[in-house]
Amino acid sequence: MRYVGRFAPSPTGPLHLGSLVAAMAASLDARAHGGILRLRIDDVDTTRVVADSADRIVQSLTAHGVRWDGAVRTTTDRNDCHAHAFARLVERGLVYGCHCSRAQILAIQATQGRPHTRGSELYYPGTCRAARIIPSSAGQSNLAWRLQVEEGSEQFEDRAAGRITQDVAQEVGDFILRRADGAWAYHLAIVVDDAADGVTDIVRGDDLLGTTARQRQLQRVLGLQLPRTMHVPVVRTPSGEKLSKQTQAPALDDQNPMASLIAAALHLELGGYFDASELGEGPLVTAQRIDTFWTRATAAWARRWGIG
Ligand code: GLU
Repeated sequence: MRYVGRFAPSPTGPLHLGSLVAAMAASLDARAHGGILRLRIDDVDTTRVVADSADRIVQSLTAHGVRWDGAVRTTTDRNDCHAHAFARLVERGLVYGCHCSRAQILAIQATQGRPHTRGSELYYPGTCRAARIIPSSAGQSNLAWRLQVEEGSEQFEDRAAGRITQDVAQEVGDFILRRADGAWAYHLAIVVDDAADGVTDIVRGDDLLGTTARQRQLQRVLGLQLPRTMHVPVVRTPSGEKLSKQTQAPALDDQNPMASLIAAALHLELGGYFDASELGEGPLVTAQRIDTFWTRATAAWARRWGIG
């Protein structure tokens, strides 16, 4: 089966070093496997979309020599496919309506002796499951729709993180498929889009490792392929927080791509496999230097991960 990877940035602002690391890992893995890479703008959370950031992301990736195959797609292009997948889950009796607010869920979580901490999973205790409100065409616009999850542990082998076990029912609970504002939830959208794009391999930041078990459950109940996964360490601030717009990550400098490319390659521990620093200076013009970088980094990635 031909390798198909993808990079799915959220259009919530300009790319920064952390997003370049994710793009680089996905791109190098696809190149090292002789595969293809899809670029999908993950605009599923329309409330967080920043105007023009999708165009800026495409420009920035291009300036840094990231290449993809085929047209750039956006998640909301496939809203009909998301609706279709949701309808199949409804038909199977796996979806119910929920009117709990985040504050109510947090309060319940605290009374159960598992107070929510920043960055930890919000556990939904199944409060609305018994009421079994079923989606119908009439009204109900103020409800979120949840998947009744399977009991038991989900186990899988992540190519970078190793063996992962998560009990979704115990650790996360029934999760949202469609939000109260009508938007499709990330998990539903991403599994439908990955299947539609024929994705065989997901390579992304390890901040998303904890979402994989949920996505695997959804892939199974929807009868979709379960891609291999590889979660690489995200870039963190000195205080340990993920580099992001919220932690004031500076935008990539498209005029000076080599510096960020080298920093990203070093973060991905490719420094021991090729001397990236020699590419920072010298007679090559920028475009040649970027091409040389990608050729050498691909060989380095293949060695590091024993590919080919
Ligand atoms: N859009 C997500 C992000 O930027 C990535 C989604 C994914 O790779 O599954 O964090």
